[in-house]
Amino acid sequence: MPDPSYVCGRTDSPLLYRTVGGVLRLAAEQWPDGEALVVSHQKVRLTYAELYERATELAKALLALGLRPGDRVGIWSPNNMEWVLTQFATAQAGLILVNINPAYRTTELDYAVRAVGCRALVLAPSFKSSDYVGMMKSLLPRGDWAGGGKVRSDTYPELRFLIQLGVDLRQGFMSFDALCESGRAADPKPFEAVQGRLDPDQPINIQFTSGTTGLPKGATLTHFNIVNNGFFVGEGMRLGPEDRICISVPLYHCFGMVLGVLAAVTHGAAMVFPSEAFDAEATLRTSAAEHCTALYGVPTMFIAELDHPRFAEFDLSSLRTGIMAGAPCPIAVMRRVIEQMHMREVTICYGMTETSPVSFQSDVNDQIDKRVSTVGTVHPHVQVKIIDGDGGVVPRGTPGQLCTRGYSVMRGYWNDPGRTAEVVDEAGWMHTGDLAVLDDDGYCNIVGRVKDMIIRGGENIYPREVEEFLYRHPKVLDVAVVGVADRKYGEEVCAVIRLHEGASADEQEIIDFCRGQIAHYKVPRYVRFAKEFPMTVTGKVQKYLIRQRVEEELGVERERTA
Ligand code: AMP
Repeated sequence: MPDPSYVCGRTDSPLLYRTVGGVLRLAAEQWPDGEALVVSHQKVRLTYAELYERATELAKALLALGLRPGDRVGIWSPNNMEWVLTQFATAQAGLILVNINPAYRTTELDYAVRAVGCRALVLAPSFKSSDYVGMMKSLLPRGDWAGGGKVRSDTYPELRFLIQLGVDLRQGFMSFDALCESGRAADPKPFEAVQGRLDPDQPINIQFTSGTTGLPKGATLTHFNIVNNGFFVGEGMRLGPEDRICISVPLYHCFGMVLGVLAAVTHGAAMVFPSEAFDAEATLRTSAAEHCTALYGVPTMFIAELDHPRFAEFDLSSLRTGIMAGAPCPIAVMRRVIEQMHMREVTICYGMTETSPVSFQSDVNDQIDKRVSTVGTVHPHVQVKIIDGDGGVVPRGTPGQLCTRGYSVMRGYWNDPGRTAEVVDEAGWMHTGDLAVLDDDGYCNIVGRVKDMIIRGGENIYPREVEEFLYRHPKVLDVAVVGVADRKYGEEVCAVIRLHEGASADEQEIIDFCRGQIAHYKVPRYVRFAKEFPMTVTGKVQKYLIRQRVEEELGVERERTA
């Protein structure tokens, strides 16, 4: 009889019972002069002592505004120094940071701010085609602005403060820089009082994931969740104060703020941000110029770097380790990363936001074959089982749904016990919706998904959300959104539409309808029209057949992955 598909991670190194602010303070004490933060596009360099001081000032200023522990503070910005300062300052003040995807547009922002009742929103002025300030203004009636960044609104009853980054302050907003400045002179008492009451088990962060019901849910994570996950991810790479991590993944996702920021801070490593949003050339240039020892990315990013026409010009010999994660990792790309980018100790991580995120990681000492073709073994202190459709644990070697249990499982979806109970069962298992196989040695392969989700270049897209948006188009009778294989992004969004009787539309019309309304990565790359959908006898649309047909038409194939 083969063993059951159940594994439990090592426990020799104890879990840390610390807060996010606590680990920053420790880092400032242990490595005061060590470089903590380098932001190439802002020409910023901060040591751990400086980072701690700046974050503490901001924490004092946030409390002086009248914000109180447990209040939600949204951040809607690409990667920058202010994002990292806000991450630490909110945690130090006991405030719950709400990560808002910088690709979100008005429909999504409106939902996010409302869903978790943000009391303050920190926002960048604009980035590329996203005018954040303009979008926020379009959502709030004029009469709701009380001046100086203060608001009173029936639309967002809990919202009080709009804090804008940058020197070019727009009318009606509060300056982030001025707020930081005010923290220096702020009364330290409220801050000191909060310090005594901070508890690692308090929720400290909300991140949105959509899910099959279409509407985004706020996965709520505690200090304990993310401090430990960041710490053990760093252990997995053998990080130390001599390491410098090039973080080209976004901060609004766990990949940036946990695997990047918290792995670095718990090991005294430097965080190096090459650009506001992913830019292959900036990543290569910064990795070389800053002598980075680790580099992160989703598979699409590594592909873009390896295929970059100037790739050979950059000396990447300082690289040692790093992480590829977020989407199925092609074996061929892993091999190129090891050989051409010198990342001989690169690791693969697998996880999801609801589990803080990582539950599997390959080890720097794993056999090369295992390291490129699996997501490694289970993380310390985490349990995983693989189950069949009836909930029974399958034997090793048999695919089934991956379930995770342990310190890393989220507190729940914000204010939504019903939807939390749909994914976290009574015994504490998070049902991931991913299909996986465990081998006899405990190595795991992700082989598919039971959830209806597309991963385009590391961004998760829930077809249901895009379908619901497309139903708003007056000519659309029925729509099925599927992910089709794509060499660059792993998958691309394809919408197959049935139009109302007598209606006609073309691909461009549908794409134009989406532009500016939903995040760019959710806008279908392909639009096809059909008279009928293939259906099961029970009346369910057979999406896999739709996907197969479109892939055949496009002549694309899926790659072998870890
Ligand atoms: P997120 O919540 O954005 O972190 O996305 C989590 C989802 O990304 C998982 O449920 C998986 O479907 C997918 N995912 C993450 N890492 C990997 C990986 N290494 N291989 C395959 N899929 C992955």
